[in-house]
Amino acid sequence: MFTDSHCHLASHKFSAEELDSIVANAKNNGIHRMITLATSLEDCPTNIQIAEKYPEVFCAIGIHPCDVHETPDNYLETLHTFATHPKCVAIGETGLDYFHPAPDGWTENDYHQRQRQFLRQHFELAKELNKNIVIHTRDKSGKQSLDDALEIYSEFANDVRAVFHCFLGPWENAEPILKLGGYISFTAISTFKSAKDSLGAAMAAPSGRFMLETDSPYLAPAPHRGKRNEPAFTHLIAKSLAAARNETLEELALNTETSVSDFFKLPSNN
Ligand SMILES: [Zn+2]
Repeated sequence: MFTDSHCHLASHKFSAEELDSIVANAKNNGIHRMITLATSLEDCPTNIQIAEKYPEVFCAIGIHPCDVHETPDNYLETLHTFATHPKCVAIGETGLDYFHPAPDGWTENDYHQRQRQFLRQHFELAKELNKNIVIHTRDKSGKQSLDDALEIYSEFANDVRAVFHCFLGPWENAEPILKLGGYISFTAISTFKSAKDSLGAAMAAPSGRFMLETDSPYLAPAPHRGKRNEPAFTHLIAKSLAAARNETLEELALNTETSVSDFFKLPSNN
């Protein structure tokens, strides 16, 4: 059995009526747990409601870096309230996105500065609530967003663990993350032949320090590429990565399930 450690079940690409079958399909494919992540203040309540409805679903509460300009300065109090919900198992999705251009009326500098401020505030909240944190980083080229996120993470690494989700490699970039006590997680991108760095990182990642995720509704694996992704497809990612790592599915499940249970502080029999 596997866990989809990162999906967005509150996305408008999943209608509320469909969720029963989305969750059932995941379970039928051996995906017994899902973590659905908020990306804005607006979708926090929906993610919580979904987690309340399904015993298999847990949620994470946070503001995506591409949403910081839409979020009021006093958001933290509201986020704090959401994050104390018993099914909230992490803070996120937060992070730094230097890939997408700054929105109208913002300089790149101010936009990235606000993202760094939010990331630091998310770390403070995680520390206060004794939860771990889910980080997104993305650059046009190079790894400035990763470096900046690591600098902020290092201030909190004694108290909070971070997972760098949708890790794209190369492997050297994982080393400072693991050194700080962090984790990485792999999407279907690691199964694409064109993504050598990401596959290489997935092959090199030590057991117990990485997780699997769909990032659904985005990033569907083959043979569903270009279509809507869903948690059930975690098993396709698992199959490809087990083969690439020369492990059995059972070994990969054991390793990644331990990571998920430790990181999100879930009972390992859940
Ligand atoms: Zn995401």
